[in-house]
Amino acid sequence: MSKGRLIVLTGPSGVGKGTLLSSLLHRHPELSLSTSMTTRKPRPTEIDGKNYYFVNRPEFERKVAQGELLEWAEFAENLYGTPRKPVEAMIQSGKWVILEIELEGARQIRKSFPSALRIFIAPPSMDELESRIRGRAQDSEDAIARRLLRARSEVNAAKEFDIQIVNDDFEKALSQIEKALFETVPAMC
Ligand code: ADP
Ligand code: 5GP
Repeated sequence: MSKGRLIVLTGPSGVGKGTLLSSLLHRHPELSLSTSMTTRKPRPTEIDGKNYYFVNRPEFERKVAQGELLEWAEFAENLYGTPRKPVEAMIQSGKWVILEIELEGARQIRKSFPSALRIFIAPPSMDELESRIRGRAQDSEDAIARRLLRARSEVNAAKEFDIQIVNDDFEKALSQIEKALFETVPAMC
């Protein structure tokens, strides 16, 4: 059986992680994406159990207390975390599992899964990032301001990651992710 592998994809909100991932998974259906848990309210197009498991704060805090999350963090006044069991089971069965998470969570994974491949997606500029967040038209003015503030500290941490990719030309960024995944030696998880 092939060896399981954990891959972490991080980058500021609005940089294009979700769009890149959906193309990547379309091209490589053998890859698995972990479904996170969050206390954020669903956006109009989001489906519970598919995009996220949407829960309330007490329920999220109970999962943390019971050690059911592999990592978790607060982002723009909401909690986000990775359910531990499904990820461990997928890796055990030889799957390559991708976590699309923010910086604090990626730092936790570095400690708990040092062999994980950690990729940082950077914007071409902060102006372009802002226009992508606005173009997505799914966040309130307040949420946009919180995301932009957080984005600055995230971009400054890019060098902590194994690989940095600028999502300027979409196809180029996508093929750089493919190269990082398929042309680096798989680590044991
Ligand atoms: P994230 O998941 O990182 O928050 P999204 O995938 O939702 O970001 O992308 C935010 C917006 O940016 C979307 O409207 C998406 O279509 C757009 N986008 C993604 N990649 C690019 C790119 N390379 N050039 C221009 N726009 C992009
Ligand atoms: P959004 O609200 O735009 O869906 O996500 C906000 C931020 O939370 C993004 O940077 C996203 O990568 C991050 N995120 C999503 N799921 C998780 C998770 O399970 N853990 C952590 N730490 N961050 C997450």
